[in-house]
Amino acid sequence: MNAKIEKIAKNVLEENEISYDEAHYLMEISGIEIYDLLYWANRIRYNSFSNVVNLCSIISARQGSCSEDCRFCSQSSRYKTKISKFPLIEKEKIAEAVEKGKEYKSDYVGVVTSGYSLEGSDNFDKICDDAYELSKKDGPPVHTSIGTITNKMAEKLVSSGVEMINHNLETSEDYYPNICTTHTYEDRVDTIKIAKSAGLKICSGGIFGVGESVVDRLDLAFKLKELDVDTIPMNFLSPVKGTPLSVGNSLEPMDILKIIAVYRFILPDKGIKVAGGREENLRDAQSWMFYAGANSTMIGDYLTTKGKLPEDDLQMIKDLGLKYKEGEMQKH
Ligand code: SF4
Repeated sequence: MNAKIEKIAKNVLEENEISYDEAHYLMEISGIEIYDLLYWANRIRYNSFSNVVNLCSIISARQGSCSEDCRFCSQSSRYKTKISKFPLIEKEKIAEAVEKGKEYKSDYVGVVTSGYSLEGSDNFDKICDDAYELSKKDGPPVHTSIGTITNKMAEKLVSSGVEMINHNLETSEDYYPNICTTHTYEDRVDTIKIAKSAGLKICSGGIFGVGESVVDRLDLAFKLKELDVDTIPMNFLSPVKGTPLSVGNSLEPMDILKIIAVYRFILPDKGIKVAGGREENLRDAQSWMFYAGANSTMIGDYLTTKGKLPEDDLQMIKDLGLKYKEGEMQKH
């Protein structure tokens, strides 16, 4: 057992914060010692979440035709990709997604729209109305991922019964211009601050395997810590033909597990959710994500790609001796 990893982990378990240098040391761990890192990340996860796993599902409520140029995204109108495009879906489809989420044991259902913002669009009012109606029913709560929001929009989301929004920072501030040039990192941070000050919980994370460095991964984790977000979705690039990042992702399953583990050390009591790219990138190591420190994952299909069968994911959780909550909503 690597004594330095053990010392850092014990400090974290005693509720002390990890330093940037310590986290950097952990990010550079390689070979057999990655197993030591996973062991301790699992202990930290267990300390915060016991054996309970949190699940969420999403629905693509408006797809494609986005003005932005995020280089990994098949929904940008700047790239020629084969995804289907559609305007805002009807309320019935959102209600169906919530029903399905209930069946899949999702703790919440994210309604996701493409585009920079819904400001000034009646799509925003429709989503708020749908969320309000669904909040009165017996299903998982609706969360939203609708791009940049203003103070007024944040207040309306709260009064519509929305508890949490998703808005990813994607990567570090320094690397962000390599990922997107049509809006700034500051824009993204501002939306998080606006949502937080309105009382919304924040789901914000990033995408890995887009050419970022170890330092970029650490900077993102420490930024999310500083912003005190509630849940960190971790996406791993699935290259899409037609996008600038169609050539591949250099991350091996053990690299991914290591990144998850270091995030658990940095953010010991926050939700860490393995999201897009899980199946393609972790392959047979998917069940290891919990041992690496994740306490949450997405279930069902993604926005534009298929996920594993929900029953297989639920079985995987049971086989690991972990539990998803039956009908009872969780804190993250
Ligand atoms: S990630 Fe969002 S903002 Fe960026 S291109 Fe895709 S849909 Fe548009």
